[in-house]
Amino acid sequence: MELIDNLVKKIETKQKFSQDEIDKIISLYSKNEISDEQILPLIKSIYYYGITDTELYYLTNSMLCSGEKLDLECLGQVVDKHSTGGVSDTTTIIIAPICACLGTKMLKLSGKALGFTGGTADKLECFEGYKTTLPIDEAINLVQKNGACMITTSSSLAPADKKIYNLRDKTGLVDNIPLIASSIMSKKLACNCDIIVLDVKYGNGAFMQNKKDAKLLGKKMKAIGELAGKKIKIRLGKMNQPLGYNIGAKLEAMEAIEILSGKKKNSLLYKDSVCLASLCVSLDKNISYHKAKLKVEEVIRNGRALEKLKTMVLDQGGNLKLFNEYYTDPTYTVISPKRGKVRQYNTKEMGSIVAKMCEQLPPNEKNKCGIRTFYKLGEKVNTSSTLFQIYANDEKTAKQVAEQLLQCVEIK
Ligand code: URA
Ligand code: CA
Repeated sequence: MELIDNLVKKIETKQKFSQDEIDKIISLYSKNEISDEQILPLIKSIYYYGITDTELYYLTNSMLCSGEKLDLECLGQVVDKHSTGGVSDTTTIIIAPICACLGTKMLKLSGKALGFTGGTADKLECFEGYKTTLPIDEAINLVQKNGACMITTSSSLAPADKKIYNLRDKTGLVDNIPLIASSIMSKKLACNCDIIVLDVKYGNGAFMQNKKDAKLLGKKMKAIGELAGKKIKIRLGKMNQPLGYNIGAKLEAMEAIEILSGKKKNSLLYKDSVCLASLCVSLDKNISYHKAKLKVEEVIRNGRALEKLKTMVLDQGGNLKLFNEYYTDPTYTVISPKRGKVRQYNTKEMGSIVAKMCEQLPPNEKNKCGIRTFYKLGEKVNTSSTLFQIYANDEKTAKQVAEQLLQCVEIK
């Protein structure tokens, strides 16, 4: 196909291409008028030769234009925050009500679990009755009313990204930072918020394995976002252990409630959430980070953020059962086999174990599965310390999971 051949030639010889050239191709591809086989050489040329930031923005914009772009004009300034994925990362459910309390409007469109990482949409479903899919005008009304609204992503946003991602996945072309940046940003730009805080995690529990890659991903996303006229803030965060203590949709939703209740103030999840919320508020209100942080901590301390989450849950059809629930007895408890300090967690594997445990179960059962951890890296344990509690559908599975989890922790 000539259109594609020409573009590939340009990329290979480092000649610049225009918005129009890439638009034509992506648009035909979204309408299935160009096949996977035909477009693959283009994806490969970007993967192997690279393109400039401006061209990466053009690609992103073409993917964005393949679908709907939200019109949030009536809301004025709206903030979005995106984490690039990790284990026990429940920050969205904590940050949205905090920002809402402080007049920083947030419309969060979140995805389902993917691979070893959990999805905010699954956690929201743990509030019994909560409708994660709402028509966008209803979601906008809820932002007007409450200051924030959390729903699930829609397939009408950047549909070309989904097609390209699936093709990359099938052909081993996922691990390319510019393509990842473009993929993430096409969806973010479709949400059309004015300020986007991008939380890029790196380490053995994150999508990016090291700081260098995380930095580059952040840089590329920032370049794309700024070319689109958005205010972008990148924050890098280390993740060599689960961010919170709990892994699994319901357990993580319960932990979000604990954090908003002001418990676990020394935990990584608390600190991370406060940091991200403070960034959102400081950018939105044009105040210093320090000032924003004081406000954020205050709405946690005085209970307003927790009350806000309750209102948001009720307004989306959910009930408040989870807010009054306490942890039930686990299916199985793992005691430390020796004394020493926790030196290492194989975090990604822990995420995968939970994902696998949940996989075979029906939706109402699978969200309940998960594990609780009790020690962070560097903390001391002895031979009576509970390392993990496992919530499984049956004891046999729980015992298998226990064996696997013991392989995921190093105590020395
Ligand atoms: N997440 C995305 O949304 N896109 C990628 O390409 C990789 C991770
Ligand atoms: Ca706006």
